[in-house]
Amino acid sequence: MNSLKLISEGNGFGIASVENFQNFAGKAFVKDILGTTGMEISFGTLGEGEAVPFLHKHKQNEEVYIILRGEGIFSLDGNDYPVKAGDVIRVEPEVSRGNRNTGSEPLTYVCIQAKAGSLEQYTMTDGVILE
Ligand code: ZN
Repeated sequence: MNSLKLISEGNGFGIASVENFQNFAGKAFVKDILGTTGMEISFGTLGEGEAVPFLHKHKQNEEVYIILRGEGIFSLDGNDYPVKAGDVIRVEPEVSRGNRNTGSEPLTYVCIQAKAGSLEQYTMTDGVILE
C-alpha cells in the first residue's frame, strides 16, 4: 500500500509522490504534505464493492474528480452516472455527491477542490514567460 510522501522541498515548492497509482490505497491529502493554499487535492481509493459511506456537498468549493483506475458510479443530486478511468467529473458546491466502486479492481481517483468562482487568471493570462 502506497501513501503520499514528501520527496523534496525548497523555498516556495515541494515535490511529493504516491509512487505507483496501481498500488495506492486509502486517502491522502496533498495540503497536508505540500501545504497548498488555493486548492485541496486528495487521492482516494475505494476497494472492490466499497462506497464512500455518506453523501456530501460543499459550502464554497467546487470539485473535480479525475478517475485514474477502475470503474464506479457517481451519484449527483440523486442520479447515478457510470464513470471509468479517464473520466473527469466537475461538481458545483451545492450538488449532493457520493461515489462507489462497481468494478473488479480498485477505483482510484484524484479530487481537486477550489473555491468556486475564484479562477480569475489561468494558463497564459496568469503564466509569465521568463526566458
Ligand atoms: Zn467533497
